[in-house]
Formats: sequence, C-alpha cells, structure tokens
Amino acid sequence: MACYSDFAGQVRGKGFPARELEERWEKGVGWTPTNIMINCFGAIPATPWGASGDLTLRPDPAGDITLDFGDGAAPERFILGYVDALDGAPWSCCPRHYLRTALEELERDFGLRLRVAFEHEFTCLGFEPRLGAAYGQESIRQIGDLPEIILAALDRTGLEPDTFLPEYSPGQYEVTVRPALGMEAADRAVKLRQIVRAAAARKGWRATFAPILRSGGVGNGVHIHFSLEDAAGKPLSYDPQGPQGVSAVAAPFIAGVLAHGRALCTVTAPSVVSYERLRPNAWSASVTNLGKRDREALVRICPVSEKPGAAVARSFNFEYRAADAAATPHLALGALVRAGLHGLRAKASLPRAASVIEVAAMSEAERAANGIVALPKSLGEALDHLEGDPGTLMAGDMKAAYLMHKRGEAGQVAATGIDQLCGLYAQVY
Ligand code: GLU
Ligand code: MG
Repeated sequence: MACYSDFAGQVRGKGFPARELEERWEKGVGWTPTNIMINCFGAIPATPWGASGDLTLRPDPAGDITLDFGDGAAPERFILGYVDALDGAPWSCCPRHYLRTALEELERDFGLRLRVAFEHEFTCLGFEPRLGAAYGQESIRQIGDLPEIILAALDRTGLEPDTFLPEYSPGQYEVTVRPALGMEAADRAVKLRQIVRAAAARKGWRATFAPILRSGGVGNGVHIHFSLEDAAGKPLSYDPQGPQGVSAVAAPFIAGVLAHGRALCTVTAPSVVSYERLRPNAWSASVTNLGKRDREALVRICPVSEKPGAAVARSFNFEYRAADAAATPHLALGALVRAGLHGLRAKASLPRAASVIEVAAMSEAERAANGIVALPKSLGEALDHLEGDPGTLMAGDMKAAYLMHKRGEAGQVAATGIDQLCGLYAQVY
C-alpha cells in the first residue's frame, strides 16, 4: 500500500500487487485532491476541489515498512510517499513535501540539519488497569508481552527503540525511539503509531494516541525533541557560555519557534480536544515560554549530565511539548522548522527562560518583554492565529485548504459535549 499521513493524521493510500513495485516507485498510484479534505471523522464538510483533479501518490523507498509479527497473520507492507501533480511537480498540499522543503531550506540557507525524536504517549483500552500503578511495573505486567511485541517490531523495522514505560495515567504508556534526521524521524513517528496500534489489536486491545480521553484527565502528548547540527553531524545547539547553554546558532531558531507558538499549535495540536490537554498543571504547555527542565514549557531545554567530562554537546536538545498525535508528524515538524527559519532570518533573540510558575508571577510588562502569551484555548482560536500568520508557517493553497479542513472538523462537532467528543477522538486516533 502506498500511503501518506494527511491533514487528519490518518494514514491513507492505495494498494497494488507487490510485483508491480519496480514501476510503482516511479508512477505511484492515482490520488485525488479532495482526499486530503477527509477529516478525522471520515467526513468532507468542505473542499476547494470538489470531484475534480488528479494527483499521484508516489511511494518513497525511505518510507517502506513491513509489519510481520511472526504470528502467522499476513504481513502488512505500507510505503509512505509524496503526493505529486501529474507532471511530477510536488503537490502544494503534500505533508511530506511540506517537511522536505523546510528541511532543505534550513540546510541550504543556514547549513543546518535537525536531529529529531518524537516521544509518544498512548493509552491501551480493553482491560481494567489497576489503580495506583502509575509508572509501575504492575502496569507493564498487565499488558503481558505487548511491550516485547512492540519493541521487537520497532527493532526489526529499523526504528531503533529507546524506551518503553508505564506512564502516569491508568493504562497509559510511553514509547520512544532514537533520534534521526528530520524526514526519517517524522516517518518513524508515523510507522511507530501504526506498529503500536497493530500490536495492541493482536492482543485484542486498542491503543489510542488521542490527545486526551476525558475532560480534566491526563493527556497523551507527543513531545518533539530536536537539536541542530551541521552536514557532517557536528552538534551545534550547545554552548556552555550561552544563556542556559543555548548556542548562538540555536537561539534564534528557538526564538522563532516560541514567537510562533500560538499559530504553531494549529498544526501541532490540531484536534478540538487538543485544547483540553494544553492546560496548566497537566505537564503539557499553556503559555509560549522557554523552560529549563520545566515540563510545562512550550520549549523545554532538556537535562544533560552534570558529571565532569560528560559529552554534553551531543545530548543537549530541546523539547517542543504542545504536540499530539492528531497531528501528522511531517506537518508538525514542517511547521516547527518554518517557525525556526523565521527566527534565524530575523536574527531573533532568545527570551529568558521562565517556568510556568515564574511566568504566573510576572507582571504584564515582563511577560510582554519576553514575548510570553497564552496558548490558544480552543482549536477555533488557534486557527485564527494561523490565518493571521502572514504565510510564515503555511501559505497559498495549502493554508486555505488546511484552514477549511480544520474549521470543517470543528464545526461538525461544535454541538457535541466534551466527554462524548473525547470518546470520538479516542476511536479515531
Ligand atoms: N502526559 C503529559 C502530556 O500530555 C506528559 C507527561 C510527561 O512529561 O511525560 O504531555
Ligand atoms: Mg511522558
């Protein structure tokens, strides 16, 4: 199956006989512009294209993955790819082209590459989780060999598993893989979600990456860890003399991300219920702050070893915390890179690091001086910020289509109560 992960964070595509693969690398499968307007509930409330137009979904060898759990069931093979126009030009709305062009710009104009790891939290539904087992070994025991099945599949498919852990909420887990360069990291994130869902289904359970399962509950975050390096792989984010250890190269990039925080959420936290997660005291993010080791910062400077002689430059990294799995990783990362690029071009200066507690104690003037504003409280508010953004994060056809798609989704469920809505999103993601 040639696939892509779309505006709705859904992996959609078309299958063909594997023996045709040689020619399909080039010719792909037929695709329709309006397909990207299918929202996460399977509806198309509005579309700029109607029934017209034709595209090609072209599998990319780098996106190739075979899921074979060795249990006798038919292996699943899906290949992530690009959506092109019929003349082979990149389609303006393709999420993977969106990320590719941002990464190419970062390298061409600034000689920088991004090393990235998406950290995923999910909830396993279908059994009664034991109360009080937060972070507990008991919580792992309850899901039997699911962790081994997932870790082995990640390993076999080259995703380089890092950790698997019981999270705070009953039935909630986290799985991480090692960092990779931008495009590969985003592909890994899509593959990882599919691996986890497929593995849980084999046990008769359902893994959901939905941002939150009930109002006031604990969120399932996707934390995007990233660091900058040159084309030879030399890490460039760290400078022991820089503010909080941030190098002069990384500072404007981070400043750009923070300055675009509100519009960025539209892409990184793109569901109606995402904004139930982006609340204070939820270990997610609620204001556009830079935080040193603060788990409620929009961008957190992650801890590094303080032991003498530690290889700090290589492990020094940032974590963007306002993302969730309703977002296609290529869109979330593509938008983050574009915000960073804007900061690099503007030579933006790094705001001072302040935890949410310090932010709360700041005067209005201090907050303004540090560019700290509240994140949107709803998808609708976030969409207004994206609309008001002058093409930095998204432009032209893609921006118009994305706004239409997301406004359609919000409109469709405007009258649905929050708990029912959480239930719907839990089914989808
Ligand atoms: N579950 C939290 C979130 O929604 C994150 C908890 C953690 O820091 O691991 O982002
Ligand atoms: Mg976590």
